[in-house]
Amino acid sequence: MLFNTKSSEWFGTDYTMNIYRGCNLGCIYCDSRSDCYRIDNFDNVQTKASCISTLKRELAQKKNGVIGFGSMSDPYNHADTRLHLTRQALTLIEQYRFGAVMCTKSHLILRDIDLLKKINDHSSLLIGFSITTTDDKLCKKIERHASTASQRLAAMEKLAQQGIYTGTVLMPVLPFITDNIDNITKIIHETHSHGGQFIFPWFTLSLRDSQREYYHLWLEKLFPEQRQIYSHTYQNHYLLYSPNYKILQTVFIKECNKLGIKYNMSDIISGYKKNKYTPQLDLF
Ligand code: SF4
Repeated sequence: MLFNTKSSEWFGTDYTMNIYRGCNLGCIYCDSRSDCYRIDNFDNVQTKASCISTLKRELAQKKNGVIGFGSMSDPYNHADTRLHLTRQALTLIEQYRFGAVMCTKSHLILRDIDLLKKINDHSSLLIGFSITTTDDKLCKKIERHASTASQRLAAMEKLAQQGIYTGTVLMPVLPFITDNIDNITKIIHETHSHGGQFIFPWFTLSLRDSQREYYHLWLEKLFPEQRQIYSHTYQNHYLLYSPNYKILQTVFIKECNKLGIKYNMSDIISGYKKNKYTPQLDLF
């Protein structure tokens, strides 16, 4: 259940763990839909009944470190409203004095703020909010069942007020949809004004196999003009760089530097790590 990760570049996690497979937050660009992850019926969230007891057993045996979770699903997907497995996992993580890294698009995380505060008191904790636009209307189109960007930012502010290290994970940037200076600048300023200390960006979009088909279907439905532009510009490319890539990157760095927002992974890691943990492995 817990998988070791090699001195992870992904927010410096020592272990990775997935309680859920599949996600019902409905992002039209979701990479976890790709065939390589072999998750059937992706919108129907699955979990193993034994996952919490397995986690408990593994935490008792492993060396303390930071656990990253939610790479195959949002830890606060709608199933968690009912199942509370993320809360149960956090309870164990707190009891066994591990740290955690979570990324979410849901303000449901505030349900667990008491546990997050306790973890933060003794271990390294980072909460990233995945934000691709500050426009709530656009957000509801491209991240159909997730909390709005405003709700995520409000949640970020509440966590920051409790001294929790939080910020924005800005990925993907959708060519011809969210790849404009105004959007990127607003994300930076909103993150800053809501107490976020970092933004980790990726100014591109990856598409492969069935995920590409899914994205194209939604483009057709929501942005028919852009669908045509994608066909001409990218065909079946895996990485879709925005034509504005360079200018966006330049503006991003300038604005972040002005506001003191961290954006390099090494700076973000040193910003939240309270202790140096040993190499990463997988929990499950
Ligand atoms: S929240 Fe994350 S895992 Fe869930 S659909 Fe959106 S991108 Fe995929």
